[in-house]
Amino acid sequence: MAVQPIRIFGDPVLRTPAAPVVTFDKELRKLVKDLTETMQHAPGAGLAAPQIGVSLRVFTYWVDDELGHLCNPELTLSDDYEEGEEGCLSLPGLSFETPRARRVVARGMNMHGEPVMIEGSDLMARCVQHETDHLDGIIFIDRLDAEARKEAMKVIRSTEWFGDHAPKVAFSPHGITSGWL
Ligand SMILES: [Zn+2]
Repeated sequence: MAVQPIRIFGDPVLRTPAAPVVTFDKELRKLVKDLTETMQHAPGAGLAAPQIGVSLRVFTYWVDDELGHLCNPELTLSDDYEEGEEGCLSLPGLSFETPRARRVVARGMNMHGEPVMIEGSDLMARCVQHETDHLDGIIFIDRLDAEARKEAMKVIRSTEWFGDHAPKVAFSPHGITSGWL
């Protein structure tokens, strides 16, 4: 049972800043495995540990056939931004145009505690920013301007999962999209 239930918007764990990884042990390797399998099962382009209820600074990504993970990410963002369609496995079925830096360099560690660096643009850059936000308790709708966020909240309140904080298995009511994070 490595596929874990994905926490849904409203669950307090999604609003809790996650703790840095300090122990690179068997338990961490199991967490990375669970995240990877849950992300691929969803399917999603990225998944952060708080989304499966673990408040640690770890995320996985699966973008353009590139599968990986990062612990304790530190981001350097480009100055230029782009709007793009963005969704989240914790807000099933929804996506909103969200501004993100076009390119990102992410430094951190792999599950063995070795330093690694990820460089990306487009969906990869969007994914890394989205997942790192999760580790800070930030949800992508927080990145919208006030007007767009108000509209988004209106849509969120109309969903059948709104107010239901119980963990459940992720689903993808509109079929597979590549932008689920
Ligand atoms: Zn997300």
